[in-house]
Amino acid sequence: MKDPNCLFCKIIDGVLPSVKVYESANVLAFLDVNPVEKGHVLVVPKRHWPTIADLPVSDSCDIRCAEELMYIMRVVAKAVSSSFADGVNVLQANGGCAGQTVPHLHFHVIPRYGKEPVQPVWRSGAGKYTGEEERDLFAKRISEAVNCIVAEERIVK
Ligand code: AMP
Ligand code: ZN
Repeated sequence: MKDPNCLFCKIIDGVLPSVKVYESANVLAFLDVNPVEKGHVLVVPKRHWPTIADLPVSDSCDIRCAEELMYIMRVVAKAVSSSFADGVNVLQANGGCAGQTVPHLHFHVIPRYGKEPVQPVWRSGAGKYTGEEERDLFAKRISEAVNCIVAEERIVK
């Protein structure tokens, strides 16, 4: 459940320091060492799941941990936005090409201040399809893969 070479596992085990804002048996939330904004928090499971795809679907103990992770991510976002920020981004990266640098699942909770909207990490409209045929191909691919995983994991009826 832990990876001895993982940065966040080391933080969870107290081998490396962190500035904690919340801790339970299953979840740790701490300040990002390179904050995008003041109050930037990372919310991490104490189990070593590299990406969101590794979240459990079968073991009930692990599922409870995953549920708690989602709950605490929500609570931290709510706490930040209700106590001192004007808004909050919750961001999460999977894989190097998505910008993930620490392969231990984590949610960034980034407070935002002021009235000017931030530039999002994506460029709206940059991935235009060549036409309806290509658009429908992507929809079909995604739909088939989703149905396949749902059938395999037998979670959603
Ligand atoms: P990501 O790029 O989405 O994988 O995010 C990894 C985050 O971990 C970055 O925002 C880093 O600033 C942050 N980080 C790396 N090392 C530490 C550390 N020792 N303590 C706190 N945050 C860290
Ligand atoms: Zn880890």
